[in-house]
Amino acid sequence: MFRTHTCGELRINNINSEVILAGWVQTVRKFGAITFVDLRDRYGITQLLFGEELNQQLDANPLGREFVLQAAGTVHERSNKNPNITTGDIEISVRSFKILNRSATPPFTIQDDTDGGDDLRMKYRFLDLRRNAVKKNIELRHAVNRATRNYLHQQGFMDIETPFLIKSTPEGARDFVVPSRMNPGQFYALPQSPQTFKQHLMVSGYDRYYQIVKCFRDEDLRADRQPEFTQIDCEMAFVEQEDILNMFEGMVKSIFKEVKGIDYSEKVERMTWEDAMWTYGNDKPDIRFEMKLANLKFPAHTFPNKIEMLQSSPLGTGGLNSGFGVFDNAETVIAFAVPGCSEYSRKQTDELTEWVKRPQIGMGGLGFIKWNKDGSYKSSMDKFFNEEKLKAIAVACSASAGDLILILAGPEERTRKAVSELRMEMAGRLGLRKSEEFKLLWVLDFPLFEYDAGENRWVARHHPFTSPKPSDIETMINNDPVIDNAAEYLKHPYANIKANAYDMVLNGNEIGGGSIRIYQRELQEKMFAALGMSKEESLHKFSFLLGAFEYGAPPHGGIAFGFDRLCAILGGSESIRDFIAFPKNNAGRDVMLDAPATIDEKQLNELQIKSIAKKE
Ligand code: ASP
Repeated sequence: MFRTHTCGELRINNINSEVILAGWVQTVRKFGAITFVDLRDRYGITQLLFGEELNQQLDANPLGREFVLQAAGTVHERSNKNPNITTGDIEISVRSFKILNRSATPPFTIQDDTDGGDDLRMKYRFLDLRRNAVKKNIELRHAVNRATRNYLHQQGFMDIETPFLIKSTPEGARDFVVPSRMNPGQFYALPQSPQTFKQHLMVSGYDRYYQIVKCFRDEDLRADRQPEFTQIDCEMAFVEQEDILNMFEGMVKSIFKEVKGIDYSEKVERMTWEDAMWTYGNDKPDIRFEMKLANLKFPAHTFPNKIEMLQSSPLGTGGLNSGFGVFDNAETVIAFAVPGCSEYSRKQTDELTEWVKRPQIGMGGLGFIKWNKDGSYKSSMDKFFNEEKLKAIAVACSASAGDLILILAGPEERTRKAVSELRMEMAGRLGLRKSEEFKLLWVLDFPLFEYDAGENRWVARHHPFTSPKPSDIETMINNDPVIDNAAEYLKHPYANIKANAYDMVLNGNEIGGGSIRIYQRELQEKMFAALGMSKEESLHKFSFLLGAFEYGAPPHGGIAFGFDRLCAILGGSESIRDFIAFPKNNAGRDVMLDAPATIDEKQLNELQIKSIAKKE
């Protein structure tokens, strides 16, 4: 037998047992004639005691860090107990041992507080994975995986694999392509998601499908994205949006329970996309804290349903007729109240102003109002606003005395983005983004289309298989998608068409998104046409889907969750990389394997491919 126990298993009730352990040498501590060795495996650490006799053998053949060791001996109670580890009450008095393998000195310490920098740890990821801190994350990922499968199996979902070598499925990103040796000049694409396959499975009658599956997107890697990532991909037939929302809110709650022991009993809040944008400035609001936005001024076209709100603004029609040029000339003016911060010093508000002026945020300045605890106001715009107006702004922000009101003004999109980042920043400073507090939210009724200014056409906001709201189908069918006047694209009827699409948001992160699909061939063809595709093009790209829709496609819909992100949030981390065993770096490289890499001429010739890239 190689080992009788793991290194995390022995306790006081094992005293006097004869055991064999195997693992890696964490530390070696020599005290005169005796030596202590901490032996580590996936399960924990056990202290080994080498007495005088064995010590001589050790002297002749010293142990080093990360040597692989097998040791046999007796479990004894420790005189000097270590309450920090689960095996801390015992140690093994070693009778015999065998060095199973030696190790080069590791390039960094295999400890929670390692001395290894990021790059080094990624290069030696197999060593990094031995560290407790990383192992914890991989264990959590496994637990999330198990909980997901348990729930979905209970609900009658079937795990069905779909191919990786496919024809491109447009989800908005670039495809990774794989040349086909047997079909020279032709390429497979790696799936951006199994979207069309799961829809085919619905046509095939597998009405509850899921897969925890790798997806591939050749995107420029913005912070914390991976070119290959994992989704919990699901699809259901004979369902309405409500069925899907209930099913998957159930899944996430069940993961919370099984992985974190959290009873998330309240109903998941719901918000329309328009309300999310209006109230939080983005479509994935963090609702762990309030700090809702007050849109003091915005172009009426942005939120057509909010015109009354705009008109009833306490600052007058048009939102803000202040006499203050910066506000009056700006497309948007947005404010929010930061609770309890009216005592911010000049230095602090100056620092915040610098924060919003950083290129990543890109604002020209920051206005503020301090609503002091004694009820008085102090503002950076005192010259333009009398107390009555300052108060009106404060009221619009639902502020209280003692709050600091921050105001940004500028071009619409940039300002909205900046204000939502500032809101998150302030929440972070106030300690309101607690990693152990979880708040879920459904965002609903997304726009079906987005305007692509570069190409002057409509693109699908989610993907081209998403159905419009039934009440908007007529608008889609009866209007020409062509945009005559690019500057006025928002006036085109398509700008207001809403999709039967939903996102699940957790603590300000989009963790899942999906939609009710189009399932009739004619409507799908109309959709492709709306996206500017000719009939030939849509047939070339999607004949398989359009064809399948001819054979009794049931109404269906689905969702996919970002598995890596879900794990990261549950693990209280901002970085998905920490939860992936072998992640890529920000340049999409696997630094352990040194991939991507060139391939040799012979392989290229076989593929009938010529590389025109310059050799480094
Ligand atoms: N395939 C979609 C995505 O990856 C999700 C879905 O619509 O089910 O975003």
